Amino acid sequence: MAWFSKNKKLTAAAGRVAQLPAKGEVGLWKKCEACGEVAYTQDWERNWNVCPACGDHQALPVRRRLEMVCDRGSFEELDSDLTPQDPLGFTDQKKYRDRLRSTHKNTGLKDAFVSGAARIGDVPVSLGSFAFEFMGGSMGSVVGEKVARVFDRAWERRIPAVVFSSTGGARMQEGIFSLMQMAKTSAALHRFRSVRKPYVSVMLHPTTGGVAASFAWLGDVVIAEPKALIGFAGPRVIEQTIREKLPAGFQRSEFLLEHGMVDAIVKRPEMRQKLTQLLTLLG
Ligand SMILES: [Zn+2]
Repeated sequence: MAWFSKNKKLTAAAGRVAQLPAKGEVGLWKKCEACGEVAYTQDWERNWNVCPACGDHQALPVRRRLEMVCDRGSFEELDSDLTPQDPLGFTDQKKYRDRLRSTHKNTGLKDAFVSGAARIGDVPVSLGSFAFEFMGGSMGSVVGEKVARVFDRAWERRIPAVVFSSTGGARMQEGIFSLMQMAKTSAALHRFRSVRKPYVSVMLHPTTGGVAASFAWLGDVVIAEPKALIGFAGPRVIEQTIREKLPAGFQRSEFLLEHGMVDAIVKRPEMRQKLTQLLTLLG
């Protein structure tokens, strides 16, 4: 009998059962946290971490986001030498210093914001994006300084400013120094207004606390990603304070659009095109 006509016996390796990935697990396959559909990790990445089946937007690392919106090779990182300090000598379950060191080791980032200059649709812009992967994108002195410099640079060069926010708010480990960043960034933005160039604020999931309460909501155009949680205090805190049940979808992009708090909801794959359009029209 020829070798190719022989029936091969298929045997399963004893004790090994093929398993689907757990929620959010990254390997060759990735399971959607919203619809449960399993797809190739490669397909997720090609789709900028938007579920290929249901369109759910999952977290996108900061470098990928900049790669997605900027013209190819145009992004020049600036202020990357700014490093966070520990002015209060703060300790919770861990020393703040140690937390900074280990987060830097895991993410390769010095703090929760990456900024610089780039071109979007051939329009030069001063831009920056929060890195939620760095301590929940919290805003301490370095993040505040970098945001202020985004506006300062836009002011000096007379070009539009774009900021992507994804944050839990102020960084509690830096106490009052974090809260001061709200005033500092808003003042820098106010100065930038004199050159009459647009500031586009893009709110990602989630944008809350001191960032939402300062420059993120002060955009000339405020864009949100679908289903992003955007607000000052979280829904649970509000419910406990006013002792009332909040309406469905409260503080989500769609609810905020309906109530005039954001100007547009833009899906991630269309973000670059929408920004190009806005910057060309207003810039
Ligand atoms: Zn899905």
